[in-house]
Amino acid sequence: MSDGLRYDDSVLAPSSSPLDRPVGRLAPRAGPAFEALGMRTAGDVLRHYPRRYADPSTLTDISGLVVGEIASVVAEVRRATIRVARQTGAPRVELEITDGTSTLRCTFFTKRQRMAQAMLASMRPGRRGLFTGKVSLFQGTAQLTNPRRDWFDSGPDDDDEDAEARVAAEAGWPTPIYPASAKLESAKIRAVARVVVEQLHDGDVADPVPDEIRAARGLGPLLEALRDLHVPRVEQDWRRARHRLRYEEAFVLQAELARRRARAAAEPATARPRVPGGLLDAFDARLPFTLTAGQRSVGDEIAAELERSVPMQRLLQGEVGSGKTVVALRAMLQVVDAGGQAALLAPTEVLAAQHARTLRAMLGDLAEGGLLGGAELGTRVALLTGSAGAASRRAALAEAAGGGAGIVVGTHALLSAHVQFADLGLVVVDEQHKFGVEQRDTLRAKAAAAPHLLVMTATPIPRTVAMTVFGDLETSVLDEVPAGRSGITSFVVPADNDVWVARTWRRVREEVDRGGRAYVVCARIDGDDADGADLVAVEPVTLGDADATPRRPLRAVSEVAEELRGLADLRGIGVGVLHGRMSSEEKERALADFASGATPVLVSTTVVEVGVDVPEATAMVVLDADRFGVSQLHQLRGRVGRGSAPGVCLLVSSAPPGSSADERVRAVAQSSDGFALAAFDLEQRGEGDVLGASQWGAASSLRLLRVTRDGTLIEQARTDARTLVERDPELEAWPALRSAIDVLLADSRDEFLDRS
Ligand code: ADP
Ligand code: MG
Repeated sequence: MSDGLRYDDSVLAPSSSPLDRPVGRLAPRAGPAFEALGMRTAGDVLRHYPRRYADPSTLTDISGLVVGEIASVVAEVRRATIRVARQTGAPRVELEITDGTSTLRCTFFTKRQRMAQAMLASMRPGRRGLFTGKVSLFQGTAQLTNPRRDWFDSGPDDDDEDAEARVAAEAGWPTPIYPASAKLESAKIRAVARVVVEQLHDGDVADPVPDEIRAARGLGPLLEALRDLHVPRVEQDWRRARHRLRYEEAFVLQAELARRRARAAAEPATARPRVPGGLLDAFDARLPFTLTAGQRSVGDEIAAELERSVPMQRLLQGEVGSGKTVVALRAMLQVVDAGGQAALLAPTEVLAAQHARTLRAMLGDLAEGGLLGGAELGTRVALLTGSAGAASRRAALAEAAGGGAGIVVGTHALLSAHVQFADLGLVVVDEQHKFGVEQRDTLRAKAAAAPHLLVMTATPIPRTVAMTVFGDLETSVLDEVPAGRSGITSFVVPADNDVWVARTWRRVREEVDRGGRAYVVCARIDGDDADGADLVAVEPVTLGDADATPRRPLRAVSEVAEELRGLADLRGIGVGVLHGRMSSEEKERALADFASGATPVLVSTTVVEVGVDVPEATAMVVLDADRFGVSQLHQLRGRVGRGSAPGVCLLVSSAPPGSSADERVRAVAQSSDGFALAAFDLEQRGEGDVLGASQWGAASSLRLLRVTRDGTLIEQARTDARTLVERDPELEAWPALRSAIDVLLADSRDEFLDRS
């Protein structure tokens, strides 16, 4: 358009909303800095939420600061000077701030004189802001080193917005503090957000929450919330705004989950009614134990759903050792009896192999269908893993495709395009937390009609998390473990206490002498190497200055196995090893030798974490337990005490007393309630990690919502969303809600792809 022709904006983009205005027009010089923080348009600025609010009218009492703590101080600049280190010539800015009575020194170290000058220019006396940093002692006086500064007014070169902001500050309005960057002060973001908010009219922002729902829940319109969030007059304003936006996050997510659920339910499934006198009845007759009340009622629930031509979509949560496998197996047999096939998807090869072995053992000759000597109504169990040999792989594929195998067990290999089924009627996903929604869908797509779906989680999760992460599934809970278990006693063993550590190994000997088996779990395989997929996902503990002792390297499988083989207390006892770098035959053999008692001590990585079931195992020793997560420890502990003999769990930890790692380990030692531990975990770790396993609840989509705290809100949003979707399954009447969902999906997809 360099020929002099000019178009009016409104012609180029007839429907252009004020929200689409590029940020460069609102803040020409700062445009790139805004874009670097992900804000391209006015709308992006509005959705860049303040991190917190400061009260500019109340200066913080500086004399009350505690050395070592992180302090946030509202104060005024008194004096700022540049000093130069005599030896290095490095400049630093020394700033004195005041609360009107006392003063506090802040020191900023810089590399260049020019940086120091620029910093100094922003610190003109009288300027008020929030200073955040760790209080340290320097030459006997408290000071802040390189604190973060959030000015209440705009910088000295932003004269236009300056005056207005200062008026707000002086009126005592709460000051929003935004996530900022070195190039973009919080005050600048605040000034731009204010301009955007003030230019908006009612029709400019489309509200994803329908009016009638807002009315019923007593929530204000979106525009009002955005105003109150960015330009609050009193604390109540931003609190109300946050509540409303939190509801919105929950509602948009729940609407998508309800829509997925409705879509899946609309696909016809094949009904798989119970066939009397079939495999299931034969299996039940042979069960060596009676089902628990929970297993029976959940079993009935599932059986009834399988009989319908609407696909089951069920999540089975179960405490460790509650007997989920039997429940799943009975569901699979019902489907096989009705002429269909079932696929069981496990997260590791060890677990897939074990499931196949258990199923074959429990079924006995019922699993030898078509073979000489097999029961007349028998079926077959095929095992498909990535590392299986070519011949057995071909055989398994043929059995799956031809329908000879009623049950196909496998790892991710089941997802591959080569795998086909004659008539897949049920998909069981064991230990769900290792699978994403998309993988579930891939398996489902292998069936002609929609298969029934049963997802089992090994880790109990609080109800609100289940609603958020698995909101498209109905939930069943198995909370009792079969009677006759004698329980597990857990202890924390300080790694630096030689007497206790020696006692640990003697205890292992005692367990073995009594006919038990002991797992010894390490965080690493050898020297400097971690066990890929099995690696502990917990961040290293950050130590405060006080206990900055260098950490010992993590104990490794190879080294610990050597040590135990040389230990007098364990003389004559076979020690095996198991880790993710062994071939699947080696792994199988290691587990078999352990189960048979040939090597009653098994040193391993967390490959034994989920699902491994050796009833004779009575002792679990976890080395470097402080490096493991709560649910991981709980899972590990669940490997013992599965038979009639009581179990013991010894958590060897080198966490400093009082550190969060120490709290974690102690919490596990003190409670055996998986749900309570999951709640503790969520609180301690924050949600990011916990929700991180799913595409939902990715950091960018859930910004204000906290599943730990906002349970009620999530329940309300779910009820509202389901009601709405029942009336209008594709949300045709709600374009604003649909586009909010699109944003959520795009964000989640990006993040999920980033992670994988
Ligand atoms: P999880 O729920 O942790 O996956 P499993 O399905 O592996 O638990 O079951 C744990 C152990 O309990 C298995 O050895 C299983 O055979 C046994 N088991 C399951 N149900 C019962 C029951 N009703 N009574 C006694 N033992 C049971
Ligand atoms: Mg299991």
